[in-house]
This record gives sequence, structure tokens and C-alpha cells, in this order.
Amino acid sequence: MILYKSALKLFLAILLPGVLLFQMSCSNNQEQNLVKDRLNIVTTTGMIEDIVKNIVQDSADVTALMGPGVDPHLYKATQGDLQRLKSASLIFYNGLHLEGKLGDIFKNLSRIKPVVAVSDNISPEQLIDNTSMGGQYDPHIWFDVSLWQQAATYVSQTLMQHDSLNAAFYQQNTAAYLEQLDVLHEEVKTKMAEIPEDQRIMVTAHDAFEYFGRAYDIKVRGLQGISTMSEFGLKDVADLVNFITEKKIKAVFVESSVPEKYLRSVVEGCRKKGHDVSIGGILYSDAMGNPGTVAGNYQGMVRENVNTIVNALK
Ligand SMILES: [Zn+2]
Repeated sequence: MILYKSALKLFLAILLPGVLLFQMSCSNNQEQNLVKDRLNIVTTTGMIEDIVKNIVQDSADVTALMGPGVDPHLYKATQGDLQRLKSASLIFYNGLHLEGKLGDIFKNLSRIKPVVAVSDNISPEQLIDNTSMGGQYDPHIWFDVSLWQQAATYVSQTLMQHDSLNAAFYQQNTAAYLEQLDVLHEEVKTKMAEIPEDQRIMVTAHDAFEYFGRAYDIKVRGLQGISTMSEFGLKDVADLVNFITEKKIKAVFVESSVPEKYLRSVVEGCRKKGHDVSIGGILYSDAMGNPGTVAGNYQGMVRENVNTIVNALK
């Protein structure tokens, strides 16, 4: 009996904690494996994050580096971003120099993990080419919904390739997302047709809407070029003032990711020349709206822009 009690004490004191510890370490390992299997995807813009989230839904972690109101042309990576990029299993960015200051980081990271530009499978003939004038391809592809569908298809293919276990799930979600974008594309065409022919001119802070203009039949003119990095001077302001006054344009649009003061000087210039042009509203150009608002997702962002444009110009 004494012997039995001593054996029990020995078991409780030494062996039992050992057994528990062994079991705990097993379940920890299992959890770690699960976490490892779960993709950790980092995107640059919210629009790309929207594509990825629609495809992976809750099966992976997805974060965007650039939140609402952030200008991707000027964006520099923070220490926190570098950490997130390092621990990501997959990185998606827009490409075509949209993220002008992150190029070297992506180049380095692409040696150790998939770093994919969503614009990569769009044929050069479909891109707006400013290269002959010493410029670049226009990166703002998300405003032609049909081009953005191509970007979504490419994201989907990449995900299926790197996570074949979930391929069927991704394929099904991609099909549903593309269908929603089909509806959106047609809706934008119909809505934009409400603007009278002679008012089909959009003036914005920078040239973010060239693809939009091409797809939905409206002329566009920006104070700055296709990148907000480009400088503009008094002559650019004067040229734009003359253009707006001559064409009797009713409204110009500020952008959520570009300071409003740039376009204010144009509006004031027009008023001095006796042409009253109003600010037609804020457009979401290179960043979406706050999460939870209408423009907090890609489709809502496009719809909200179109409503703003049509209401100001029709
Ligand atoms: Zn831009």
C-alpha cells in the first residue's frame, strides 16, 4: 500500500506533468501547422485587397498596406509594412509604376516569395501607353471594370497555383465575383449615358480616369499627369482654367487621395474669368473609402464615383 501511494505520488509529481506537457506540445504543433497552411496575403491598394478577399473569403488572412485616402504614387513603406511584407506568403501589387517607391522592395522580395503585379496579364494593346511621349503606361486600370476583371482572373490563377487544395473554392468565388463585375460594368455604361454629349468632360486633380473615360465615353483632363509625383506650375493651372472656361464645364472633381487645394486654384481662376465652376464632389481615385462606408469596397467605390460624376454633369 505504501509502495502504491509512493508510486502514485511519483506519477502525479513527475510523470503526469510530463504527459500533459507532451500533449500540450502536440496540440501546439498542430495549431502551428494550421497557421502555416493558412495563406497570409499582403496587397498594396484596397482595390487589390478587395479582389483577393472576394476570392479567398475567410480561408486566408488578407491585409492592404494602403488605407483610405492614401496616395500610392508617393507611398513609402514603414517599418511595420516591411515586417508585414517579410512575413507574407504572397504579395499582390498593381504594377505599371503605381507604387513608384516600392519597386526595389518588391524586386528583393520576389527572390524569396511570389510577388505578383495584377496588371501583368493585361496585354499592352489594352493599356494606355504614354511611353512614346517619354511617359509610362497608365497604371489606373481599376476604373475600366472589364480590365479589373482581367486583374481578378490573374489573381485567382495565382492563388490556385500556390494553394491547389483550395483551388475549387477559389474558382467558384472568382466566377461569382466576375459575374458581379459584369453587372457593374453594364450599370456604369447605362448610368454614364445620362450625361449630355456636350458635358462629357471630367476635370480632376490628376489623370487617374483615362481608362474610365475610354471605357465609359467621357473625356478626362487632370491638373497633374498620371502620377501625383509630377509637378505642375502656374501655366498648367492657367491652361486648365482656359480649357474649363472655353468648354463651359459645370463642375470639377477633387480626389480623396490628393490635396484639395491643388484644384481650388483652378476653380478660383475660373471665377476670376467670370465662369462659375463648382466642385462636383470627391472622387475615389487611387484609394477606396473608409471600411463600412459605401465606397469602402471596390464596387461601391465605382458606384459612388459614377453617381457623383453623373449628378454633377447631367
Ligand atoms: Zn493615380
